[in-house]
Amino acid sequence: MSTADVRGPAPGSTATLRTTNTRRVLDVLRTAGGAPDDTDATVLTQAELARVTGLAPATVSNIIRELGTVGLVTTEPGGGRRGTVVRLSSEAGVVAGVDFGHSHVAVAIGDLTGRLLHERRGRLPSVHQHEEGLRFADALLDELLAEAGIERSSVRTVGLGLPAPISDRVVRSAAILPGWVGVDAMEACEQTFGVPVCVENDANLGALAEHRNGVARGHDSSVFVKISSGVGSGIIIDNQLFQGNGGAAGEIGHLTLDENGPVCRCGSRGCLEAYASVATILGMMKAQLPDATLDDVVAAAHAGNVSAQRSIEDAGRHLGWGLASVVNLLNPALVVVGGDMARAGELLLESVRRELRRHVLDAVAGTPVLLSELGERASLVGAVLLAAERTELLELTELD
Ligand SMILES: [Zn+2]
Repeated sequence: MSTADVRGPAPGSTATLRTTNTRRVLDVLRTAGGAPDDTDATVLTQAELARVTGLAPATVSNIIRELGTVGLVTTEPGGGRRGTVVRLSSEAGVVAGVDFGHSHVAVAIGDLTGRLLHERRGRLPSVHQHEEGLRFADALLDELLAEAGIERSSVRTVGLGLPAPISDRVVRSAAILPGWVGVDAMEACEQTFGVPVCVENDANLGALAEHRNGVARGHDSSVFVKISSGVGSGIIIDNQLFQGNGGAAGEIGHLTLDENGPVCRCGSRGCLEAYASVATILGMMKAQLPDATLDDVVAAAHAGNVSAQRSIEDAGRHLGWGLASVVNLLNPALVVVGGDMARAGELLLESVRRELRRHVLDAVAGTPVLLSELGERASLVGAVLLAAERTELLELTELD
């Protein structure tokens, strides 16, 4: 399920206003000051909460009481002249995040504030049926919980990322996860994990994670582009993930760069993905460095191999063209480059920035292009954040 499906009551109802206000309080508590790992970051007084949210002190007081009854926040008297101190509770259970890649799955446990506590990765056959992948992830989660001494029954919600367009809960593309196509991902996942699951595209999760805990923190808008086996993006507008009508927004990999280019898996021609994915770089270097991994090609480029340098620069050049369209269209505060390809670092980014500047309007030419801060963990961090948010929403629905 995408987050858009759990936005709560009908617009205009009293419940909507209450839910909106409650979410504002929770958002402030979650993001107030400090680094994500700073345990004091989520501590504010009720008076401070009223000031930051712009809500009346009595409204904040009511919201905090309600959140306290469902265990989402705890309160205690502040020292000295400080009023009641409020913090997000991390003890009312845990959430899990699961991130599927082309040939790996990563699993994490987080607290209800969305802070990642434990994580583990395992390898998957690149061609697997979805049931097999889910069983594997479920077993990995069991191992992780056992090691952390956490009961399985404490898991409230699972956030799950897939490297494919997901429209109305159904996986739509055959190229990266053939064993998942046409599957109602949310239903399949809920059967496996036995708790509510929210399913989201992995680039969208990366965008959410960089927005909340990474390099895009503090910016209202950003575009996160994930370049691994495929190329996708997640878009944050007004501090919210923009999902489009059915949840499939952000498929930057299928922007047409050359209508006479190679036929793409999507049926179009000359898509960005054909020029900028990891597979493209490995393909270009096949004659010189057979069986090389991306890390081998990056190392060769750093060691002065001009062909390796050229292959990465070319990928960056095409990426810059594609991103120029996105930047002209959306004018985001910044662009974040993540996924496996981010390991090429400045080698890639220099050519992305150069081409971006050449193809955007002056008004947006200063848009920064930065490397992902969370690296290969971005989607997993996002999955945990999404699961924590979903748990909150389920609790809020109970309140209504
Ligand atoms: Zn395509």
